[in-house]
Amino acid sequence: MASFFIRTYGCQMNERDSEALACLLEARGHTPAASEETADILLFNTCSVRDQAERKVVGKVGLLKRLKQKRPDLVLGIIGCMAQNHGRALLDELPHVDLVVGTDCLPQIPDLVEECLNGTHGLVATDTSAELPVGLGGHRAGQRSAFVSVMRGCNQFCSYCIVPYTRGREKSRPVAEIVAEIERLAASGTREVCLLGQNITAYGIAETRREGTRDPEKSPFADLLRAVHDIPGLERIRFTSPHVKFMNDAFIEAITSLPKVCKSFHVPLQSGSDRILDMMRRGYTAAEYLDRIQRIRERLDDVAFSTDIIVGFPTETPEDFAATRDVMATVGYDMAYIFRYSVRTGTKAADTLADEVPEEVKMERNQLLLDDLDRRVAVANRRYVGRAVEVLVEGPSKRNAERWTGRSDTNKVVLFPPAPGLAPGDLVTVRIERTTSHSLFGEIVPS
Ligand code: SF4
Repeated sequence: MASFFIRTYGCQMNERDSEALACLLEARGHTPAASEETADILLFNTCSVRDQAERKVVGKVGLLKRLKQKRPDLVLGIIGCMAQNHGRALLDELPHVDLVVGTDCLPQIPDLVEECLNGTHGLVATDTSAELPVGLGGHRAGQRSAFVSVMRGCNQFCSYCIVPYTRGREKSRPVAEIVAEIERLAASGTREVCLLGQNITAYGIAETRREGTRDPEKSPFADLLRAVHDIPGLERIRFTSPHVKFMNDAFIEAITSLPKVCKSFHVPLQSGSDRILDMMRRGYTAAEYLDRIQRIRERLDDVAFSTDIIVGFPTETPEDFAATRDVMATVGYDMAYIFRYSVRTGTKAADTLADEVPEEVKMERNQLLLDDLDRRVAVANRRYVGRAVEVLVEGPSKRNAERWTGRSDTNKVVLFPPAPGLAPGDLVTVRIERTTSHSLFGEIVPS
């Protein structure tokens, strides 16, 4: 038996895959290593969404060549999106790597690792399948908040995005299987789940299309939310990421009416310019995006939105950028991931558009949006002062042991002095006394 360490890059889907893979390895008798340095099996679960993320992994794994020379028994693997994207080419670039395993082959990793422990070198597994990979349902014990993958892949083919090539086409898990997984989690103390899918609002749609039962007025994801909502012991449901094209009335009705669905929604915008949205093949206009936001707002007293933005997409003019700033100001996001456009080989944008916006312009636009956001959130958070908010307790703050931390329904970080008997996973009411752009501070209201 050997010890393993999985270093995870990228999105929550990768974090979830790493967690499930750790369970598969533990089921074979392998044990988690305390650090990368002491592991017998060292796996890098990688991300291909940005060039920088890929270069980071190549640099990091490249540096491990000397360690591998000193410890030839060490099993070194690159798994996940980069492995799917580049396959055998990774072995040409990094010949000291023992195995390269793509996204759909994750359940094969325990077998492949054992072959490597027995001396095999240079294994590659990147087959994709129309079927969902099985065996990825394991969770770490004792989690108050857990990720649950409800689907894999994406059919949208946004022009800049590598995901449909690395994660394949949309495949949704059956409702009963997801509910059974969450019931097990809730029975073991999980209070909150975050449902994961690259385009989660398309959950079940490919399947209904195949069956000939697709009805654009319906939302299979809304039906899934209702089924999950009924699970006893579960207090909160989050999900990521929806796509505006699929946010129909049935979806909006479900997310605004189900009390356990947290009122904090991550809705990727990418750009506020209709011209750029069209070139990105996003399938909506800025007005349609704002319409969905408005319809959610009308139904809720308090709601927080977050988003993804790409600055410096090919041909983005100052006017296009100003349109993005305008939409961001109109929505008033509570959080945003802002990225500088980077070419992903194999995508439509890489094949047809020059990466012509200079890097310094991208950086400047990136910074302007971050500054706008920081200013706006600092002001917006003041709306909480004097309010009592429900908080799911996470535990002691890492920065200040005298305070505990948790999250509000709107996903705000809340800090407060602990009360006797308080435990992670408790739901408490905190009266907010002061705020910053990052956190809310208050005192627990005795129940
Ligand atoms: S919706 Fe677009 S950006 Fe999101 S994963 Fe699919 S292709 Fe990529």
